[in-house]
Amino acid sequence: MWGRKIARGLILDVLGSFAEPQAGIHILNGHRIALKNPCEEIFHSQLRKLEKLVRFIRFEDAVELIISKVVVSEPLVAFSFDDGFEECHSMIAPVLEDFNINAAFFINPNFVSGNREYIDYFTNNVVKTPGKLPMSWEQIKDLHNRGHVIGAHTLDHYNINDDNIEELEHQIGECRTVVEQHIGVPCDYFAFPFGRLEHANSHSIDIAVRHYPYVFSQSDYKNYFSFGGRVINRRHFEPDWPIIHLNYFLNTEKKY
Ligand SMILES: [Zn+2]
Repeated sequence: MWGRKIARGLILDVLGSFAEPQAGIHILNGHRIALKNPCEEIFHSQLRKLEKLVRFIRFEDAVELIISKVVVSEPLVAFSFDDGFEECHSMIAPVLEDFNINAAFFINPNFVSGNREYIDYFTNNVVKTPGKLPMSWEQIKDLHNRGHVIGAHTLDHYNINDDNIEELEHQIGECRTVVEQHIGVPCDYFAFPFGRLEHANSHSIDIAVRHYPYVFSQSDYKNYFSFGGRVINRRHFEPDWPIIHLNYFLNTEKKY
């Protein structure tokens, strides 16, 4: 495992050093600043380097450009974060605000409202990010008030590659209802959990697009869309990844 990880790092170091971000609209999706010892400076330092190479834009603006199939002449980068960990509020949002941009935060209502046992199971077994705590509803509402977007990520981080229509309706549709009850504005954005194309299917995407105007994966990043134009693809990144690795995948020429 370590061998593979190091080899991938070395390859990206070499490829990344020749790469320059391509013109296009890039939505980067992360989860946390670092697995251990997160601090604002890690993300701040990454964005200081990245802002020399790309222009940051607001999340909703990136989505509108992509939906309108606009061809841009410079690299534009917007951000989103899945799973709603506490550091989204305490560190990630303040750093983004230093750069005058926002992000979309895709949350799981039952994690937010979960008891200790639920939270431990969720972080250890479902999203495999041990030790993280969820944002509270007050913190999520505060992010909304500060201009960030609050999106839905199913009630329980449910794998929607499933054919249980009743459960899909519940996990996808009810998530919107609960978020709207707490935030008080329409919840128009949905990112399906785990994010790879095999983590959804045409039936679950049918349900998702019936409930939400905008549905996101975290996969197939060379193409703006998947599932026949119904899903917008984001690129996985994390704030503690070296800038050279971001350079490499931002070098992708993206296609509508
Ligand atoms: Zn997730």
